[in-house]
Amino acid sequence: MDEAVWQTTLGEIELTISRASFVTWFKNTRYLDSDGNTVKIGVPNIFAKQQLEVKFSDQINKTLKKNGAKFSEVVYVIDNKAAKIDEATDNVLHAKAPSRPAKGINKVNTTGLNSKYNFETFIVGSGNELAYAACQAIVRSPGVKYNPLFVYGGVGLGKTHLVQAVGNALVEEKPDTRILYISSETFVNDFLDSIRYKKKGFADKYRSVDVLIIDDMQFIGGKEKTQEEFFHTFNALHQANKQIIISSDKPPKSIPTLSERLRSRFEWGMTIDIQAPDFETRCAILQVKANTQGIELDQETVEFLATHFQTNIRELEGALNQLLAFSEMRGVEPNLETATGILNGSRMRPKHVSARNVVEKTAKYFSVDMPDIVGPKRDREVVVPRQIAMYLLRSELHMSFPKVARELGRKDHTTAIHSVDKIEQAIATDSNVRQQVNEIKEKLYA
Ligand code: ADP
Ligand code: MG
Repeated sequence: MDEAVWQTTLGEIELTISRASFVTWFKNTRYLDSDGNTVKIGVPNIFAKQQLEVKFSDQINKTLKKNGAKFSEVVYVIDNKAAKIDEATDNVLHAKAPSRPAKGINKVNTTGLNSKYNFETFIVGSGNELAYAACQAIVRSPGVKYNPLFVYGGVGLGKTHLVQAVGNALVEEKPDTRILYISSETFVNDFLDSIRYKKKGFADKYRSVDVLIIDDMQFIGGKEKTQEEFFHTFNALHQANKQIIISSDKPPKSIPTLSERLRSRFEWGMTIDIQAPDFETRCAILQVKANTQGIELDQETVEFLATHFQTNIRELEGALNQLLAFSEMRGVEPNLETATGILNGSRMRPKHVSARNVVEKTAKYFSVDMPDIVGPKRDREVVVPRQIAMYLLRSELHMSFPKVARELGRKDHTTAIHSVDKIEQAIATDSNVRQQVNEIKEKLYA
């Protein structure tokens, strides 16, 4: 048996299974060797290994034999990419149980990158394959082809994951590359600080990198001075053939109050949208995320969740996590019955808790006055309680983001999305925040 037999086998299997399954489980495999007894196939990660062993082994064995391979067993070996994925798995596990020693909590280093967002854990499907391909091309030769790369798409569709994956891949493959990942909000604040406190080095910091990744560019809308500064940063980097990657929830032409000259710069390179994942991709994502936590879900349950959450991968993931946490706590199977029960339950709002209750209880807990929590103040003592209130409106009352924003006196719903995101991450990594949120919940339901 040789490489060619494996390729033929892959080609035949590809015709019989869904595209998402093929891409997810087979695409990155390779033939290693065989001794007439054992065939060794290299796989990128433990999930692929499990899936191939459990789900596809019959089909693979049959197809191999049909193509003339002689063997008594096929073994799947995690090859060179394995280290990366193990790290990602480690991160997920530690993020769930942060009381364990700090080793491996999602590492965010000076580049601003979070190591859990990598290409290995990113599922490619019809909605994101173009963006994925462009990002891969950038890793191969940054600054050359798609510059700037402008990726846009709805909330929770993987923009942050993908643009960070570029940075993380570069850290591994081209360690000398200077990379900076920031949200445009950070850029705005950093810029305002540099003016307010006459800080030096602002321009240098952003102009001395090889790859600048700016997430959620829509936040720069309306901020004229910052846009001007960014315009100069952009030009300096672009002229020096440095790579610029931008994400946004809308295409350049739809970001309100974006200056004409920035808009035209953004359209210089490649503009790609990410669309909602199709059904098969949603199923693959669920299966991979469950496997990351060491759990194999049956197809029924996967399809049930994939049917209910269609337009936001973050919510899809949230539903899965809820199911797994509930099942573990109650010692029940994470099956269709449990999933149905949870979904029906969580859709119902607790009757005696109103949005106003949530905001008031949160303000009171932190000794912040009501007018301040819904007002314009931006001090940390007010901002964090405000963000937690937003998080609770979402998690407890399932309010829409625009409503959440309005409840806290905000016009722009992306602020609410951002805040809820922040608190979700804080809960996963910071036991203080987790405790605060739990205590407020207790007061709410007392
Ligand atoms: P966005 O920045 O577009 O709002 P994120 O990148 O934060 O979305 O993605 C939301 C969540 O969904 C993250 O946990 C991310 O890892 C996950 N996710 C999104 N797309 C994919 C994908 N294609 N494969 C695996 N996970 C994904
Ligand atoms: Mg994002």
